[in-house]
Amino acid sequence: MRALVFHRPKGVSVDTVDDPRIEQPSDVILRVTSTAICGSDLHIYNGYFPQVKPMVLGHEFMGVVEEVGADVKKLRKGDRVVVPFPIACGSCFFCNAGLHPHCENSNPKNYGPEGGLMSQKGGALFGYTDLYGGYQGGQAEYVRVPYADVGPRKVPDGLTDEQVLFLTDIFPTGWSAIDWAGVKPGDTVAVFGCGPVGLMAMKAAQVRGASKVIGLDREGYRLDRARAVAGAEAINIDDKDHIDRIRAMTGGRGVDVAVDAVGMEAHHGITDTLANVVRAQVGVIDVVKSALSAVRRGGTVSIVGVYGTTYDNFPLGQAFDKGVRIALGQATVHKYIDDLIRLVVDGQVRLDDVMSHRMPLSEAPKGYEIFNEKKDGCVKVVLKP
Ligand code: NAD
Ligand code: ZN
Ligand code: ZN
Repeated sequence: MRALVFHRPKGVSVDTVDDPRIEQPSDVILRVTSTAICGSDLHIYNGYFPQVKPMVLGHEFMGVVEEVGADVKKLRKGDRVVVPFPIACGSCFFCNAGLHPHCENSNPKNYGPEGGLMSQKGGALFGYTDLYGGYQGGQAEYVRVPYADVGPRKVPDGLTDEQVLFLTDIFPTGWSAIDWAGVKPGDTVAVFGCGPVGLMAMKAAQVRGASKVIGLDREGYRLDRARAVAGAEAINIDDKDHIDRIRAMTGGRGVDVAVDAVGMEAHHGITDTLANVVRAQVGVIDVVKSALSAVRRGGTVSIVGVYGTTYDNFPLGQAFDKGVRIALGQATVHKYIDDLIRLVVDGQVRLDDVMSHRMPLSEAPKGYEIFNEKKDGCVKVVLKP
């Protein structure tokens, strides 16, 4: 089959690779009909997360069940499904607690309680390095889906791929940021990052009845998208007063909830890159710092942007003085996805309007390039195998 293969940083190509096959009786094989490129894929693409062996990337995909393992009970050949990006057994301590990204069984080689730099990571993710399980991803014609009775959800009739594809990751991720912070009607919410994840967090805040949603970025076209698809008031972070402006919009106090939907690859210069060699640090925590400034005393900072190493100069004193609560981690997709499908079916939220590009899988390398470099008005790329 054809698949998008990561070889080295900035080196991805569409290659012919072995077809996936059933390896465990609880697996299914999916024929992928749509798959998307995520900001998280860029961390591998840009070399922030190491991957030595070639790997098929992609953790946002949906498709039609082609082959069913002997123990699978809920799915049949021909079922059309969306698949949450964490791979989870559905029966361990963490899965039973609704914390599927921390599954104790899906990542046997590299799992552990510590959450270390190069070992003892969380549960597995599709197409997301050997450290996170070594499973091949879904930017491909076919993909093996383990624990098929646990993750995949059947798509209700009458919905297009684009209407539901983003239930695999970015909408549940935006929702996680908002739900972990307990956003309630009337709350004010600032979201740093108007990429796909930030836009989804803004949409989630609107669904939850936020009185004010503020989107921040430095890309003008993405700020426009935040206004258009998420009803946000948009502020450019190159405006040096952006924190003051947030406070001015919230009675001088700051927002109830500030979301980091950027992560370690927040725009930074050569000085930071050089200093990081000494600091043994990858990327920067500038957005965490901004969020801690923007949030009100006693408010919540939700971090769904990804971080990979230790980070010194973390403003713990400021967070302590303000009594801020901080919630962070991989999205708990399995916990939310059924409720979120219902929101889509009921028309309470629209997801397909974050997509900017639809391309054949054969053009995936170009998709990575324009998404990474924010060229051609790129917000979200959907690939068609
Ligand atoms: P993206 O790269 O398209 O979006 C990031 C946006 O942040 C860009 O628009 C960029 O211009 C903007 N930005 C850069 N520096 C900024 C700053 N200092 N202040 C404000 N905005 C800034 O990526 P995405 O797909 O939207 O993903 C965003 C983050 O969410 C990534 O780190 C991704 O890995 C992460 N993510 C996490 C989960 C999870 O489960 N926690 C799931 C999906 C994605
Ligand atoms: Zn993703
Ligand atoms: Zn589990």
